[in-house]
Amino acid sequence: MRIDDIDPQRADPSALEHIIKSLAAHGLSGDGPLQLQSHRLTEYATARDRLTDLSYFCNCSRKKLLGERLYPGYCRHKLTFAPEHAVRITADDKQRQFLDRHKGVFSYVASEHFGDFIIWRRDDVVTYHLATAYDDGHHHSHVLRGDDLFEMTAPQLFLMEKLGLNPPEYTHIPVLTFPDGTKLSKQTHAPALGIENPEENLRDALHLLGQQPPKAQFTVGQWLDWAVTHWRLEAIPHTLEPFSEGNYE
Ligand SMILES: [Zn+2]
Repeated sequence: MRIDDIDPQRADPSALEHIIKSLAAHGLSGDGPLQLQSHRLTEYATARDRLTDLSYFCNCSRKKLLGERLYPGYCRHKLTFAPEHAVRITADDKQRQFLDRHKGVFSYVASEHFGDFIIWRRDDVVTYHLATAYDDGHHHSHVLRGDDLFEMTAPQLFLMEKLGLNPPEYTHIPVLTFPDGTKLSKQTHAPALGIENPEENLRDALHLLGQQPPKAQFTVGQWLDWAVTHWRLEAIPHTLEPFSEGNYE
């Protein structure tokens, strides 16, 4: 079990406890010691330093970049360390592709799709991209995650390639959204996942993912066994009905 807790502003010990408790209630526990990204900062810094030849320092303000979809490369000449600068990696023009097991083949050109992006923040914290690419490339064979993170895949694969890591196999599945398309999260004030009825939650999740679970009174363990036996990737819909309380009956 790995917890992505690198953003100091968002790392909240009580939230961490809640996540672990909630996963455990749904029968999901790690198969090794808990891994915290916040405990691997030295490794991420080493990874950053391995990318020195491809990266540069940038102190462009948000205001300066207003309206730019991609970073215009203003700081590409800044090759020596300077405090309070972010580190950006240089995107190239090579055509690449990857396979998503649910969405199919996706092609991209780094310089057109995401451009030079930040791998280390100006407040001296690793970015989500670098930490995730490093960990997924080192420790994971398969990544199954929400569609909302699909856009992250190409830049993360780009980093894995530059770090010489083996990319995992990717599957992105649709996530629950409100009728306006925003995803259910703490930021959008979605109700927290209750842990009083984990059996029902598991059945609802399987149903939403198109797996046609039976109308049965299974225990958590039985639901997980059923899911492992009957899991069909091709049955997952490409979008989900928007969330509203009580539309799961
Ligand atoms: Zn800059």
